[in-house]
Amino acid sequence: MVLSKHFYFQNLYRILPFLSLAAVFLSGCSSSFITGAQGTGRFNTVVIDAGHGGFDRGAKPVTGIYEKNLALDTSTRLARILRQNGLHVVETRTGDYFVTLGNRVAVSNRLKESIFVSIHYNWSKRKNASGIETFYLNPNSARLASRIQSKMVGSYFSRDRGIKSRKFYVLRMNKRPAVLCELGFISNRKENAIVQSSKTRQKLADSIASAILAERANYLSAPASDR
Ligand SMILES: [Zn+2]
Repeated sequence: MVLSKHFYFQNLYRILPFLSLAAVFLSGCSSSFITGAQGTGRFNTVVIDAGHGGFDRGAKPVTGIYEKNLALDTSTRLARILRQNGLHVVETRTGDYFVTLGNRVAVSNRLKESIFVSIHYNWSKRKNASGIETFYLNPNSARLASRIQSKMVGSYFSRDRGIKSRKFYVLRMNKRPAVLCELGFISNRKENAIVQSSKTRQKLADSIASAILAERANYLSAPASDR
C-alpha cells in the first residue's frame, strides 16, 4: 500500500510525541552500554577466572550444584569460544581446587596484553533478589564491563542490575583491565533453576565472549585517539 504524502506527514506529526517518549523510555531502561566509557586498549590474552574452588564452594544454591561448579563450567565454555575465535586464553583454574586471590591476579599481572574476567554467581539473604551485575574498578575497564553487562542481560532476560565500581581484591590488585561478572542469584528459586541449566550457561558464555570480541574489534578498528 502506498500512502499519500499528506497522510504520511499528518500521521507522523501525530505520533512524534509518542516516538520521542518511546526513545526516552528505551534509553532509560534498555541497555547499560556506555558509549563514551574508556576502553581496555590493546589485548591478545583473556585471563578467565572461575570464582572459588576446592574447599571454597562459593554460594549455596536453592538446589543443584554450588557456585564454584557453575562458575567453572561457564568459564570453560567461555574459554572454548574465545579460543575458537583466535584469542589466547589463560584460566586461573581448570578444575575443582582452591586458588588464592593473590595467585589469580598474578596470572594477569604477568601477562602484558591481557584482560581479566572473573565469573561468579550471586547470593542474597533476600530470597527474591535477582538479576545480573558487572563490577569494575579502573575506568579503563568501564566499557568492557558495560559491553558484557548489556549482552548478558539478554541471554536469559534477567533483571539488569547494571555496572558498578567496587574495590574487590581481584579488581583492586589487577594491573590489567578487569571485570567481575555476577551471572544470577542462586539464592533465588526461579533464577537458580534457570542458571542450573547448561543451556543458560552456554548462552551466558556466548554473550560474554561476544562482548569481549566486540571490545577487541573496537580497538583494532578505532582511531588511536579513541582507544
Ligand atoms: Zn562468588
